[in-house]
Amino acid sequence: MISTDPDYYVQSVLAQDKRVLAKTITLIESARHEHQQVARQVVDGLLPHTGQAVRLGVTGVPGAGKSTFIETLGTMLVKDGRKVAVLAVDPSSQRSGGSVLADKTRMKNLSTLTNAFIRPSPSGGTLGGVARKTRETMLICEAYGFDVVLIETVGVGQSETTVASMVDFFLVLMIAGAGDELQGIKKGVLEVADAIAINKADGDNVERANLARRQYEFAMHLLTPTYANWMPPVFTCSSLEAAPIGISEIWAAVLDHRQKLTESGEFEEKRRHQALNWMWFLLEEGLKERFHQDPKVKRLLPQFAREVEQGATAPTVAAGKLLFLLDNDAAV
Ligand code: GDP
Repeated sequence: MISTDPDYYVQSVLAQDKRVLAKTITLIESARHEHQQVARQVVDGLLPHTGQAVRLGVTGVPGAGKSTFIETLGTMLVKDGRKVAVLAVDPSSQRSGGSVLADKTRMKNLSTLTNAFIRPSPSGGTLGGVARKTRETMLICEAYGFDVVLIETVGVGQSETTVASMVDFFLVLMIAGAGDELQGIKKGVLEVADAIAINKADGDNVERANLARRQYEFAMHLLTPTYANWMPPVFTCSSLEAAPIGISEIWAAVLDHRQKLTESGEFEEKRRHQALNWMWFLLEEGLKERFHQDPKVKRLLPQFAREVEQGATAPTVAAGKLLFLLDNDAAV
């Protein structure tokens, strides 16, 4: 039975009740209208308690080693006394029916630690829907008291830029030897990267990884830096748990980035900018939802779509009439 009292969720999350934290996220992920209404109040109630965590996004193609990296970094951070939450944005979960990120048995060690919390990607809905749920989940985790929120995403499609727009630091994991084409890495991803790490720099791979690092360093120098005070570094690392390499250096860069940007005022500016973008995003999503929920639109949309397909009505005319339905009771 899901409680509909927002205060119950707010108070329990603030009291660090992990069971209710999971329930709150389920509420956020629920498609039911009444759950959504409660969820909105819960997020509102918890909002004043958010903002303190380090928000770190990690992307890379499937097989780049994201979960292994997050497991190693997360375990290291928990051992250092931090509370770590891991979330995922995986738009493939609704396209293929099986999620690239969520279905694996992942992060076995991290998931057993009291001060860690792992939540797979919400399934169903559009990337926009998944992004909204993940962002709200991130806020709930911050209010709960997690010091670090790691958001993992697959390096395909739009999901990287979506995640980059909700985190403080965006890390792109690469593997040496795979051409850019193979890794599906677009210039746009490098532009939003705050650091690049060539992963699996171990065994026979070390030399190739070093070469790849130099190539990426060169490529990054050609891009216009996003911040006056930050040149995205390129690392090599290995996440194999027995002998991890470079992981603490990457974490040090995350902290260094935060400090430099805080001092220059760019950190605050970034968060403010993200909040404003988020408002626009919600507005657009809300308008779309309102449009599709409208009974008149629901009734007439299939007919207009057919007419446009058959060439009987111009797309501009159909779109105009459908939009007109939203705020006008007069039927066409
Ligand atoms: P993901 O799909 O990006 O989450 O990748 P995984 O973390 O599942 O890793 C894919 C494969 O690469 C697994 O077989 C891992 O054991 C292996 N792997 C991950 N990190 C490393 C690493 O640092 N070095 C080596 N040699 N293998 C790794």
